Amino acid sequence: MATGRNQLSLVKESELQLMATTQYNAFLAENKVLSSGTSRDAAMVDRVGARISNAITKYYDSQGKESVLEGYKWEFNTVESKEINAWCMPGGKVVVYTGLLPVTQSEQALAIVMGHEIAHSVAKHGNERMSQALVQQLGGMALEIALAQKPKETQDLFLLSYGIGSEVGAMLPFSRQQETEADQYGLIFAAMAGYDPREAIPFWERMSAASGGNPPEFLSTHPSDATRIRKLKQFMPEALKYYSP
Ligand SMILES: [Zn+2]
Repeated sequence: MATGRNQLSLVKESELQLMATTQYNAFLAENKVLSSGTSRDAAMVDRVGARISNAITKYYDSQGKESVLEGYKWEFNTVESKEINAWCMPGGKVVVYTGLLPVTQSEQALAIVMGHEIAHSVAKHGNERMSQALVQQLGGMALEIALAQKPKETQDLFLLSYGIGSEVGAMLPFSRQQETEADQYGLIFAAMAGYDPREAIPFWERMSAASGGNPPEFLSTHPSDATRIRKLKQFMPEALKYYSP
């Protein structure tokens, strides 16, 4: 619906949102969550999250496409971790790892990453991957049945589908098409929230330098960072139409 292309979707978004709430709370309970009252980093993550979520809610409402964000109950949390990572579960459950912040260096660049992760969620990329995983790994079992019969395996597939794979082992990368979509929409989302999309270029250059050897989710499917940056430049004129500082 957000991307305009046909996507495999065997799972109801509402079911994934329900599962996300449980998994999100479990993740927060197992990790050190920074309070936005005492941490400037957490306050920044909250601010960027609020600006992006408000901007895109307003946008989809104005287009008569409220259903894109149906069931979303946004939450933004910052966890202390060396990992360079961020993700967004179904229904707008976002986590930013403190390890990302030395690479983003600014609120603008953080907005580029959060825009990218939120775009994966809005474009239902996790649903696509979860649907593929249910077909490939569990013979096309319905989510409800998979959860009842193989709870651990199903939870692991869910975490992998949303880029939360470090504890589960091998990361299931987003496809290059999904990455490109997330880059394109992420730029627009950041721009709509009043963040300069042009910050994406120096950010991805820093990211490319920082990720040597162990690429985070953002980079893992891109053999060439130059290709990503070239595409970002192509998307820039469109994103700038949505930008006013
Ligand atoms: Zn991505």
